[in-house]
Amino acid sequence: MVYLKTEEEIDLIRESSLLVGKTLAEVAKLVEPGVTPLELDQVAETYIKDHGGVPGFKGYNGFPNTLCTSVNKQVVHGIPSNKPLQNGDIISIDCGVLLNEFFGDVAYTFEVGDVSDEIKALLSVTKESLQDGIDAAVAGNRIGDIGFAVQQKAEKHGYGVVRELVGHGLGKNLHESPEVPNYGKRGSGMKLKEGLVLAIEPMINLGKRNVKQDQDGWTIVTADGLPSAHFEHDIVVRKGKAEVLSTHKWIEEVLNKKEKVK
Ligand code: MG
Ligand code: MG
Repeated sequence: MVYLKTEEEIDLIRESSLLVGKTLAEVAKLVEPGVTPLELDQVAETYIKDHGGVPGFKGYNGFPNTLCTSVNKQVVHGIPSNKPLQNGDIISIDCGVLLNEFFGDVAYTFEVGDVSDEIKALLSVTKESLQDGIDAAVAGNRIGDIGFAVQQKAEKHGYGVVRELVGHGLGKNLHESPEVPNYGKRGSGMKLKEGLVLAIEPMINLGKRNVKQDQDGWTIVTADGLPSAHFEHDIVVRKGKAEVLSTHKWIEEVLNKKEKVK
């Protein structure tokens, strides 16, 4: 069932989403060659708990950690490992928080040290495709318009759009109806109404769109072994323009500062 939120509920989801953004900014400070995903996971867990939240992923269907950390060919749902990140890697970090009974769910793909121009382009187009999806998420449009917008942007650049995993409604549950695919036909699917809160999260592959599950039972990897990017925002459908409840602002402030020091 699709559940439209009241303004009070939207305020609470915004708070949860912002806490995820702040958590990822703390993590961003530490992303560099030599750090392990498990170290990042510890920092995130402590930060969330210190701010009154509960890690939203830990224990969810048995997932063991606070962060999903997906390196290079790993698309999503990577389990934080103790293998140090290397210069030139990318790491997609997805984080969920439960605060005041509502979830926030945000993802960002980070560069580790110096990455190739090819990968920089993948990250910036994936971020743009997320923005295009958000721009399409207005009252009166349909779910398919979001996926259409994301797919158009990604495929125009020759990238593969992952189909097996999708965005979703968000609220008292981490995953609510409806599903929000990152591909679709214009004007298809459920009509978007004001108060519908969605997590929009394109997963875009440098190569082909096909993915498979790793032997650990969690991690999704690209079938061709090429890198994949993942960015996610939580939004509420409004008239004329969606409101973005989450923010990447604090993450990017940290990244810009690091860039200046280089
Ligand atoms: Mg997520
Ligand atoms: Mg999500």
